[in-house]
Amino acid sequence: MKKIIFLFFAFLYASTSIAQLLECPVTLDPNYVEPPASVLNSLIQNQNSTDKYVFNVKFHIVKNDDGSGVTATYGENEVMNAIMILNTNFNQFNIFFKYKGYDVINSTSFMKVRAANFPDTNLSHPTFDQLLEYSKTGMTNPVYDYNAMNLFIVEGLDYSTISPFNPMVRGAAKMPGIDSIYGHNHLLSKTLPHEIAHNFKLYHTYQDYGTENCEHVANFGDIFYNSDTHGDRIEDTKASFMFGGAYANPATCTFQNPNGYADCIGTPYVDVPIKNYMSSTNPCQDLHSTYLPGTGEFTSGQGVYMRNIIALYYNHPNNFYGFNNAKNTVESLYQPFETIPYGGNIIRSVTDNNDGTAEVCRNMLIRHRFQKGFDYAFTNLNPSDPSIATLIDLPEIINTTYTFGVQINQVNPDIVNDVFVDCNRGSFCQTEDFVKGLVVSTNVLGSMNLTLEELNEIQVKDPELYDKLMSQYYHIINKETSSGAVKQTFIYKY
Ligand SMILES: [Zn+2]
Repeated sequence: MKKIIFLFFAFLYASTSIAQLLECPVTLDPNYVEPPASVLNSLIQNQNSTDKYVFNVKFHIVKNDDGSGVTATYGENEVMNAIMILNTNFNQFNIFFKYKGYDVINSTSFMKVRAANFPDTNLSHPTFDQLLEYSKTGMTNPVYDYNAMNLFIVEGLDYSTISPFNPMVRGAAKMPGIDSIYGHNHLLSKTLPHEIAHNFKLYHTYQDYGTENCEHVANFGDIFYNSDTHGDRIEDTKASFMFGGAYANPATCTFQNPNGYADCIGTPYVDVPIKNYMSSTNPCQDLHSTYLPGTGEFTSGQGVYMRNIIALYYNHPNNFYGFNNAKNTVESLYQPFETIPYGGNIIRSVTDNNDGTAEVCRNMLIRHRFQKGFDYAFTNLNPSDPSIATLIDLPEIINTTYTFGVQINQVNPDIVNDVFVDCNRGSFCQTEDFVKGLVVSTNVLGSMNLTLEELNEIQVKDPELYDKLMSQYYHIINKETSSGAVKQTFIYKY
């Protein structure tokens, strides 16, 4: 019997393509501590399912030394869509992601990175760990954020000598942990929820397939049932193997097993999860073109498992795997990710700098920018600001002068939290060029006999403008700036 099983393994390995084999390497933490078995059993809920977990997310985009490369144009647009992908896939489990911005690592040598950790003299690319170290201590201004999950975007990843810079290697993640890395063309894809699930210690559905420790196809109640302790340890994901395209029916996203592939005790696989984000890569996990979820999914068992892992480390003072530092409050989700002061329409003062420019001070307003990925309702606003926003919107509240309310459906449809706006926030001043003007002159106040002279851009900036005015006349001088602010002066020239 033993001999037959061994031959079967050999067959399975030989028929698995390299591209599939290498699709998702995972870097295990060297200080790995196995959580207690009870945490790993998705049937045992170690946490209150209504508890909400919030993680900060910081993106690091690697570009060439001079800013060029395939990632040259990557910026807020890309990482904001990534935040949306994370929230729209994990909010169902009360796991939330707070956008903390992005930065750029200008380093040609880190454009291509080795996903796995082991040294290999045949590969010249630095490892993910070396990139992490560089971002922590190697840069003049280190960008690594210890208070966030850190997501790195590079040109591409390689894995081993048999796959030097293979674009099929999509991403890698610390497991468990807060660090992950993505080939640039895989960030906005199913790879993103996949790697973040690894951060929460979720295994592939085919974990340990092809070994004698495999998860059996056997159902609950069967003597060979071991789904609770083997494979991905998730009982609502059927026993799986790493399958090729022939096993996934792309039209129905169901499993087909024409060759009768079997588990390690010879039972043919049935109902292998095709749509699951942790299964072998196939089109049934793909996101919509808007980056909203398609048919890809996590099961509720996977959700409980990830929550159990998070609960174990989230509030632990030892900051295991960085979880405790990377967390944020539920309230933080209601606050804008960015606030930018700017001048409103109401002008407070215009001061002539006597050099062709004016210092124009306006009522200060604030652009409140909110991240993508939530359904928002905003209250207590000017009608000119949006009252609602949906998942793919990047809402901005820009006209309000007073504190307003924010409600987020995904967090709690019954709660409105305030965004404080200081009504005494002062003025916003900037220097503006004078661009035109008008001089109204008369020698007798109240007279209808007025002289009008329009000033062009050169005339209005003329330092000798006053000297050129007629003597023994009253003059009203209107000087207008590029934004339409008017400085009016009334004089009598002797
Ligand atoms: Zn993976």
